Amino acid sequence: MSLTSRFSCLSDHDPNTLSVDQARAFIRSQLTPLAMHERLALRSALGRVLARDVIAPFNVPAHDNSAMDGYALRHAELSSSAETHLRIVGTALAGKVFTGTVGAGECVRIMTGALLPAGSDTVVIQESVETDGEDIVVPVGQRAGQNIRLAGEDLAAGQPALAAGRLIRPAELGLLASLGCAEVSVYRRLRVAFFSTGDELCSIGTPLVDGQVYDSNRYTIFGMLSRLGCEVLDMGVVGDDPVTLEAAFRDAAAAADVVITSGGVSVGEADFVKRLMAQLGEVLFWKIAMKPGRPMAFGRLDGGPQSAWLFGLPGNPVAVMATFYEFVRDALYVLMGADPVPVVPLLPARCAAAIRKAPGRTEFQRGVLGVVDGQWSVRPAGAQGSGILRSMSDANCFIVLEHDRGPVAVGDQVQVQLFEGLA
Ligand code: AMP
Ligand code: MG
Repeated sequence: MSLTSRFSCLSDHDPNTLSVDQARAFIRSQLTPLAMHERLALRSALGRVLARDVIAPFNVPAHDNSAMDGYALRHAELSSSAETHLRIVGTALAGKVFTGTVGAGECVRIMTGALLPAGSDTVVIQESVETDGEDIVVPVGQRAGQNIRLAGEDLAAGQPALAAGRLIRPAELGLLASLGCAEVSVYRRLRVAFFSTGDELCSIGTPLVDGQVYDSNRYTIFGMLSRLGCEVLDMGVVGDDPVTLEAAFRDAAAAADVVITSGGVSVGEADFVKRLMAQLGEVLFWKIAMKPGRPMAFGRLDGGPQSAWLFGLPGNPVAVMATFYEFVRDALYVLMGADPVPVVPLLPARCAAAIRKAPGRTEFQRGVLGVVDGQWSVRPAGAQGSGILRSMSDANCFIVLEHDRGPVAVGDQVQVQLFEGLA
C-alpha cells in the first residue's frame, strides 16, 4: 500500500490541520529500525543502540558479600534476649578472602564488598557493636541475613541483563563492563543528509549582499543531529531551482537513510516542490496545527538503489527546531533501533505570565524555567516569532500549550519540556 493510501486510511484527520499527535503517530507507524548491525569496542558504543540482548554470563555480584563494614557471624548464635559475646577469628577485606569458616561463638571482621566467609549469614555493622579486645558484644535485635548483597541480586546468570533496543548511556557502559563485555553488537549509525533551500540564503564565510540572510538552519540541524549520534552529511545551500533541487534530493537519498531539508514547504513555495517530489518518491505535505511549525513534508525519496525517509521542515529557524524536536527526534530514534524511544517528559510548572492562546493548535513557547519561592515557575523567554533564535537560545524549555487549551492566566499550571537532561 502506498504512503498516501496508508495516510488516507487514518480515520478522523484533516490533511489541512493535522494535530501534532496525529502527525507524530503516523510517522511512528511507518518506521522500522535499520537492519544493519556492527560490533564495537565498549567505549565506542556510547550513544548507540544495542542490537542484541546481552545475557549475563555469570551472577553479579558473583558471590554473597557484605554491604557494610562490620562483623560477619551466624545469626543462630545470637541470643534473642541478651547481648551476645563473639570472638574475632579473622578479617575479610574486599579482594582478600577469609579462607576459614566461622564456627560457634565466632565472628569475622568484614569490610564492604568482602566475600561473606563460609559459615556466616549475617553482618552486624561496626557502629552497633562494642569491641572488647578479641571479642565483640552484639546487641539484641539483629535480623538474619541483614547487610548482605546476595549473589546475582544485581544480574542473574543466564538472564538478559540488557535487552536489544536499549540506548547505551554511561550506566549501560558500566553495566556491560561489570559483565566483562569488551565488545557489543549495536545498530550502525544512522546517516542523515541535510540541506537548506532558498535563493536568499548565504553560507557563512561569504559576505552578505542585500536581501540575503545567513543560513543558520544547517547549523542548528547539524547540532541536533550530532547530539543524537547520527552521521551527518551537510549538503549545503540549494537555490529554489527545480534542476539543482532535484539533483540535491537524488544525491541525498542515494547517500543517506534520512534526508532533512529546511524551507520550501510553505504555501508560497510548496507547489513547485510538490511537483518535484511527485517524480522523486512519495511525499505527504501537511499543515500541522502547531506553532511554530505548521508546514511540513514527510515521505520517501528514491535515490536509485536505495531510498531514504524525507523530513521537509519549514524554513523559519525556530520552526525547524520545534519540528525537529517534536517529530524528527523520535523518528530517528526509531530508525536507530531504540525501543522504547527515550521520552522527554512533560513536567508541570506554574506559569509566571499570561499567555494568549486559542484552542485548536499545539503551541511550543520558548520558556525559562526556574525556582521562584520554592516552586518551579516558567516564563516566556522573550519574543516568540518563528524566526527569532535569540529567545530559543535564552530558553531552557518549551512551554507546551496543548491543542485544546485556551489562554493561560498568571499562576496557571502549564507543562514544560526541558531542553537538557543529565548529560
Ligand atoms: P520558507 O519556508 O522557505 O518560506 O522560509 C521561511 C523563512 O525562513 C524565510 O524568512 C526564510 O528566509 C527563512 N529561512 C529559510 N531557510 C533558512 C535558513 N536555512 N536559515 C535561516 N533562515 C531561513
Ligand atoms: Mg524558501
